[in-house]
Amino acid sequence: MTAWNDLSLSAEMLSLIENAGYKAPTPVQIQSIPLVMEGFDVLVSSQTGSGKTASFVIPVVERFKGKNGTYILALSPTREIAQQTGAVFEAFGKPLGLRTVVCIGGASIPVEKEALASSPHIIVATPGRLCDHLERGNVWLDFIQCLIFDEADRMLEMGFAKQIDTITEQIPKQRQTLMFSATFAPRVEKLARSVMIDPKEVTIVKSEASTPKIEQRLLWLPEEKKMSALMRLAQDEPGTIIIFAKSKERVYQVWRSLHGKKDDVTYIHSDLNQEQREAAIAEFKSGRFRILVATDVMGRGIDVDDVAHVVNFDVPREAEDYIHRIGRTGRRGKSGHATTFAIPVRDEQGIRAIEKLRGVASPEKREYTQERPRQESRPPQKPTRAPQPEVAGEKRPAKPAFSATGPAPKLVLTLKPKVAAAPVVEKKTGGFMNWIKKLFKA
Ligand code: AMP
Repeated sequence: MTAWNDLSLSAEMLSLIENAGYKAPTPVQIQSIPLVMEGFDVLVSSQTGSGKTASFVIPVVERFKGKNGTYILALSPTREIAQQTGAVFEAFGKPLGLRTVVCIGGASIPVEKEALASSPHIIVATPGRLCDHLERGNVWLDFIQCLIFDEADRMLEMGFAKQIDTITEQIPKQRQTLMFSATFAPRVEKLARSVMIDPKEVTIVKSEASTPKIEQRLLWLPEEKKMSALMRLAQDEPGTIIIFAKSKERVYQVWRSLHGKKDDVTYIHSDLNQEQREAAIAEFKSGRFRILVATDVMGRGIDVDDVAHVVNFDVPREAEDYIHRIGRTGRRGKSGHATTFAIPVRDEQGIRAIEKLRGVASPEKREYTQERPRQESRPPQKPTRAPQPEVAGEKRPAKPAFSATGPAPKLVLTLKPKVAAAPVVEKKTGGFMNWIKKLFKA
């Protein structure tokens, strides 16, 4: 087993790692650290929760410690992720003399301008805010020698392609580029080809130890049943829950419905200011609130270890979001649960895209597991209505339904989507003519 001592790190760094409580390096750290330390461009396929941040922070700090000037730029998709990355750079960089400045939307431009003028060694920024500073002439990127794209897929999904171009154009070509991404959609590959030179690739082979154990369920149900299903799920689940909804209006709607019944629910979306967002996350982390309702973008930066259950109240717009959402649970070797609510017919396409991305059975081969009947004597359901999910009182399947630990995870549908059957109309030939004839006979 590889230990921290095997990674050619300095004694000071080893002691900082010990202070951080990282007992052994994670697989992504074992593979990436030596490559980054040697100065290669590295393309890493990694999930949040795998220890990826430290896998670039530790070797980059080791490479650049003792040098003066702004050499390192890390781009993050969201404010929260930028702050977390900034904190990890602080933890490992500051004791070794490297200063970090974080530039994010929502923070004060003049304060950031002043911090940038003090020539920090490391800049961690969201692309939009960094472009803002570039336009104002608050920062130059001529000295950058190491450019890091954290969660590249997410940055592109969020529409930062143009800003990324503007930024990379201003950085010398002679540099080290590191790119981390949970998924390698074609647009990520295209970006990697345009900004990296002959990168070494690191892909973490999923193993029992490195893969989160997430039991995944999919419930097909009509829109109007979602809220009651959610209520029952929230009652059944004693642990912490993050609920993802597709828009801020939807987040608010879910929060309001749950909040009426419980006072342990909070929410986070883009209309909240930075302070309010941080407060919501802090109170969720501390246990003051057990349930957090979030949009994709906001939920991305939530780094809480003990989330028991992720609920996709709405099927995500992009299949990649599914991976990011469920990655909030099953962290640090713990097991977790993820439940997705899907509307028959309307969400079929979205579910197919998730299955494709996960490499599960093709839609044609998809397994359908019929829900057990509620009562033996229950009358058959009307074919015109989609079936109601069994959430309350439903035992989780003994075996993970869609386990990330298995070799070929399968998405097992606990309810078969039913397309409303066309009502059977008895064929009455010549009904109108018979009626006319009868009328005339009468
Ligand atoms: P990340 O994948 O960077 O979001 O990291 C997820 C969590 O794992 C963070 O809370 C880190 O502090 C933690 N972490 C990173 N590396 C290790 C390690 N080698 N051992 C234990 N925890 C770690």
